Amino acid sequence: MASMMQPQIILLKEGTDTSQGGAQVVSNINACTAVADIVRTTLGPRGMDKLIHDDKGSVTISNDGATIMRLLDIVHPASKILVDIAKSQDSEVGDGTTTVVLLAAEFLKEAKPYVEDGVHPHSLIRSYRAAGNMAIQRVKELAVSIEGKSLEEKKSLLAKCAATTLSSKLIGGEKEFFASMVVDAVLAIGNDDRLNLIGIKKVPGGTMRDSFLVNGVAFKKTFSYAGFEQQPKKFLNPKILLLNIELELKSEKENAEIRLSDPLQYQSIVDAEWNIIYDKLDNCVKSGAKIVLSRLAIGDLATQYFADRDIFCAGRVTEEDLQRVAAATGGMVQTSVNNVIDEVLGSCEVFEEKQVGNERFNIFSGCPSGQTATIVLRGGADQFIEEAERSLHDAIMIVRRALKNSTVVPGGGAIDMEISKYLRQHARTIAGKSQFFVNSFAKALEVIPRQLCDNAGFDATDVLNKLRQKHASGEGANYGVDINTGGITDSFANFVWEPAVVKINAINAATEASCLILSVDETVKNPKSESAQGEAAAGAMAGRGGGAMRGRGGRGMRRR
Ligand code: ADP
Ligand code: MG
Repeated sequence: MASMMQPQIILLKEGTDTSQGGAQVVSNINACTAVADIVRTTLGPRGMDKLIHDDKGSVTISNDGATIMRLLDIVHPASKILVDIAKSQDSEVGDGTTTVVLLAAEFLKEAKPYVEDGVHPHSLIRSYRAAGNMAIQRVKELAVSIEGKSLEEKKSLLAKCAATTLSSKLIGGEKEFFASMVVDAVLAIGNDDRLNLIGIKKVPGGTMRDSFLVNGVAFKKTFSYAGFEQQPKKFLNPKILLLNIELELKSEKENAEIRLSDPLQYQSIVDAEWNIIYDKLDNCVKSGAKIVLSRLAIGDLATQYFADRDIFCAGRVTEEDLQRVAAATGGMVQTSVNNVIDEVLGSCEVFEEKQVGNERFNIFSGCPSGQTATIVLRGGADQFIEEAERSLHDAIMIVRRALKNSTVVPGGGAIDMEISKYLRQHARTIAGKSQFFVNSFAKALEVIPRQLCDNAGFDATDVLNKLRQKHASGEGANYGVDINTGGITDSFANFVWEPAVVKINAINAATEASCLILSVDETVKNPKSESAQGEAAAGAMAGRGGGAMRGRGGRGMRRR
């Protein structure tokens, strides 16, 4: 009754949906846990893959956390944060995307009972932040540097990191093969930051083992005209001319108006057109180049002209490939063929056009600046090759990170257990309820080894007890899950290595995300934006839906 007598204060529009308080935090936590449950089973070498297909019928099979999260199209506002951290982990370090989602969700799950018991989220957040910082500090202390090793040693160390990344992927069966390939590719491009200098070309057919690395550039043969067959397909130490112009006979009839008084002059106009193109071709030949590549078309006249002079040409080379050829061979892309000096020509040791599966490939190897590498991937189904590409991308990123930061930590849950132990020990020294929270944070870190066991079908409780005991003994800091036997093993000695930066970034991002979600205690759904969205969607539907809907709308209008 009392409430009816007081004037009502209307703050938000009618229909606004708000939910707030502890219940809201708990509901957000539940949503995040549900998201993590989706990717949970993909973790580790025995992880499963996910097949995702959308309404357009495209099918993706993937083990990569970021890829799965991106394709899932998650709508829950709080769990979108998990998608974001997976994406940022992917772009920052390239691996550990499942790890980061699992950690964040586990931090939240551990926090849930406290929130339900009425603990203020900010007490939790403060403790979590502190624990996160300590964990990162500890990872940095435990990381082992691979600096100052010889090239050979370094190579094998990097290959170990790449193999650890690849072991959880579809191509895990061939991880050593691909790991050394990835290391060679990354070392080839040196300190250059441009990732696209490593090209990955996918050619369906053959087996994984047929994949190979070109120390240079390779691209699919471009469209060619008659006369192409007569061109030589192999050169040793050729000079390479890179162009961004069309080498085609262009009749100017559409672009120009010419008035002639004497019909005999007509021939001179036709001749002029021919002369222009012949001049260009002549200049190309005179430059001394044996290979001519252009981003634009090279027509049939030019193709034949070059064939007669034992020159190889390819038109409509994609921008990306042309840039990579330029970087590799030391050439410069020209926009005119007048006065081509020697300095702008590129060179390489061997150029060859080769058959790869059903495709022909132009391959430039032994390039002087050596700053490019191309991996030609072979394999059965398209989805398979695509997942292989994503996996290689992870491995490439990891090797680059390891090369830059050159510190590694043992994988297989070893580092997580060690950090967990460290934080538990630290928690005992804290007075007050923060002790519980830090302890929970420490417990959450165990999710990684536990999930590795679960996914492999091991008894997680048993393995975790063994690990806890080993780590507590003080000399088992490197012990992690043995994925082959279901026991525990020295991950470091078994070369299950991960760059420290993967863990540091994962713990950091997961802590941040969980604190962010804990700090949200109210969600307001704005009815206006909601209906605006609804209208936009309806509009789009009408646009797409065609006649029926629009027809009905039209009649309705007329009646009014
Ligand atoms: P993410 O997307 O997080 O990289 P992965 O599916 O690649 O997830 O799994 C990575 C986890 O698997 C890491 O914790 C790593 O230590 C572990 N791992 C990789 N190879 C092995 C192995 N041979 N033995 C035990 N654990 C491994
Ligand atoms: Mg991985």
